[in-house]
Amino acid sequence: MSDARADFRSIPSVEVVARAIERLAPDVPARVAVRAARAETDLVRNAVAHGQQASNADAIARAGALRARLVLQEAPQPVINATGVIVHTNLGRAPLSDQALEAVQAAAGGYSDLEYDLGMGQRGSRSNHISDVVREVTGAEAALVLNNNAAAVFLALEAHARGREVLVARGESIEIGGGFRIPDILQASGARLRDVGTTNRTRVEDYARAVHGDTAAILRVHPSNFAQVGFTESPDPAELADLARGRGLLLINDLGSGALLDTAAYGLTREPLIEEALEAGADLVTFSGDKLLGGPQAGVIVGSSEVIEPIARRPLARALRPDKMTIAGLRATLTHYLRDEALETVPVWQMISAGLDELRERGERVMDGVAGVRLVNSSAAVGGGSLPGQVLPSVAIEIADAGTGANELAARFRNCSPPVIGRIHAGRLRLDMRTVLAKDEDALRTALRAVQHARR
Ligand SMILES: *Cc1c(COP(=O)(O)O)cnc(C)c1O
Repeated sequence: MSDARADFRSIPSVEVVARAIERLAPDVPARVAVRAARAETDLVRNAVAHGQQASNADAIARAGALRARLVLQEAPQPVINATGVIVHTNLGRAPLSDQALEAVQAAAGGYSDLEYDLGMGQRGSRSNHISDVVREVTGAEAALVLNNNAAAVFLALEAHARGREVLVARGESIEIGGGFRIPDILQASGARLRDVGTTNRTRVEDYARAVHGDTAAILRVHPSNFAQVGFTESPDPAELADLARGRGLLLINDLGSGALLDTAAYGLTREPLIEEALEAGADLVTFSGDKLLGGPQAGVIVGSSEVIEPIARRPLARALRPDKMTIAGLRATLTHYLRDEALETVPVWQMISAGLDELRERGERVMDGVAGVRLVNSSAAVGGGSLPGQVLPSVAIEIADAGTGANELAARFRNCSPPVIGRIHAGRLRLDMRTVLAKDEDALRTALRAVQHARR
């Protein structure tokens, strides 16, 4: 007992540690240093309570300085995506075009007519700034932009199917990751899920049999990050639309990614186009702003005014509305499509459409003069829940292991500034050129040189 008490007394005070942190890291503000000192001394006290020796003030202060710097560090910090996955949710999905970036900066760095009508000199509408362009691009009669697509699906159901049933094919009752599970979203919206068909095969008759007086809608969901092969069947969209119309049901199509350009032009299967989904008779089509569209995080609902207006009037529409940066960035992104320049200006589409020769040239530039690397053919993916299992031919810099091990090498690249995120293929680390932005080429070359130099 007396020993334990003596040990507790050996722990330096918070004040002493905080002052030591400030000496080690003069850029750390006092209040941050004090909190870091408290957290670290708490850890030591806990260790001592478990019979360990207290570390000395210097060691505690070093840990505290690291902790304080982490708090002050910019986040999310930029990284180089060399994974070959274009719409990488963990790495922030779609990078914005230069014009979209400028629009975001202009909207964020000053005042704007966000909710102001310049002609009338009075309060205006936030949503008008964006819904007109969405309508132009998609051909829809009405549009509503929300914070993300999860919010779009949720609010569409909450507005139109609260307290009633929604038919969902068993094969489409999916989880896309990050907590988005169709049954949970339905439940949260107050709608009741009615499963239809079987996991692999669902026909229009399955939907027809499930309809009763309390059915509000049919929800179709893009299977996103998984694909079914073999003995499968899904209903013809036009027949399903006929059924919905005939029975007075709303047909909602959650496209997930929602493409405006045809992915089939790049050797991929065709990702459903937003316009086609509307033409096929869906009353509401929902999609993300930051997947194949290539814009900021947002969720878009398009359809007829009659169906969109009740959604926009729900109290939760206010809670889920996009901010001015989103509106500015999305509008600028959509304008690229209107101008027919998206392939050249929207990074996601630049990456999808880049030719192999170009990627090879860029790879060679990056690895010029570096030993222990070679250029190999690789496979990139669109990602973001679109085109699961489909690959885009690509080119990668493969790094010879030379005893370091691929995992250790990957860690060294992650430790660079900016961090480089590669992919391990057949036991070797690869840096895929398809997802490396042109503006990151120099930084990638510097990282590659530093890592390879340190190994010699
Ligand atoms: C990605 C996705 C969502 C969720 O979209 P967020 O914009 O990430 O909220 C919903 N449904 C499908 C089918 C998706 O692929």
